[in-house]
Amino acid sequence: MKDFGLFALIHGQAASSSTHVLPTSFWKLLWKAPALLVWRGCMKILPVRGSLRARGMDVDEACAFCGEGAETMGHVLLFCSRVRQWWFASPLGLRQENEVEFHEFMQDFSKAVDPQTLARFFTLCYIFWEARNALVFHGTPPRLKLLLAREAALFLPPDSRQTQANDLPLPATWLAPSNDVIKLNFDASWRVNAASGFACVARNNVGEIMAAATAPHMAALSPLLAEAGAFKWTIGLAMDLGFRRVCMETDCMRLFQAWNRKEVGCSYLFSLLMDCRHLANTGFVSFDVSFVKRSSNKVADYLARHAEAFGQTVWIEEVPTVVEPLVLDDVTTLVPT
Ligand SMILES: [Zn+2]
Repeated sequence: MKDFGLFALIHGQAASSSTHVLPTSFWKLLWKAPALLVWRGCMKILPVRGSLRARGMDVDEACAFCGEGAETMGHVLLFCSRVRQWWFASPLGLRQENEVEFHEFMQDFSKAVDPQTLARFFTLCYIFWEARNALVFHGTPPRLKLLLAREAALFLPPDSRQTQANDLPLPATWLAPSNDVIKLNFDASWRVNAASGFACVARNNVGEIMAAATAPHMAALSPLLAEAGAFKWTIGLAMDLGFRRVCMETDCMRLFQAWNRKEVGCSYLFSLLMDCRHLANTGFVSFDVSFVKRSSNKVADYLARHAEAFGQTVWIEEVPTVVEPLVLDDVTTLVPT
């Protein structure tokens, strides 16, 4: 069988011409179902309908997703009209342009991207293949939101595995900002097939409430997109309220990483973050973003989870009675900075 480069990568024996030798630890992480699936796809040994038909089996070769193209590996994992939409909506924001054989695509793609993106790609391939099997064998129609939620649950970048929030030397309680800064804790709630909830709470250097707000939001495609939406919404609110020096706090590590590393891409996440960056640069004298533990973000967390009940509301210098104990708890554990 021809060596597609990927095979060598998987076995840690990348050809000397390759500049993308991946560390063994990476393959230990990935040498599971997703990588195996892609490898089988490159080797053309996955039982897609098109190849079963080509081998003489009496099966309908039409793609189960779109009913149009013949179900080949390339079609079902990359070029199907429905799958193209999923790739674009995914955190990778991929646009599949030219239709090529699956192994040809992988050969180029694996050389063009970093290991983390490749890992994420494998994971999504695996999820799309699961969706295909669920449809073919159980008649379960795929739903994009569920697919992306599964990806978010399955995939943790290698570095964030090493830096889980609980392992970080972060305070477990809310800390007050410095004198002239307003701290805005924000959060988003997310449920499959339900509206997301956005919430934020703004406090000064002695823990006094400057404002709080909630907003039910149309269903976001993933928890991360909901968090990014809540971020942008909170920035807008801070501008409307005239806060000029702010510190934003989130308990979503992935959002914080994307913001902090100034990651770029063409997915909706990056479009939201670009908007946030523009607002941050133009609307404030100083603007910081910090990652905190959920225990330091409990007021925003509670409000976000109940945003639907609170509705679109802004409270000035107060919070709903039900969260007053949480606010009080933050203040009584206040450590002066
Ligand atoms: Zn199709």
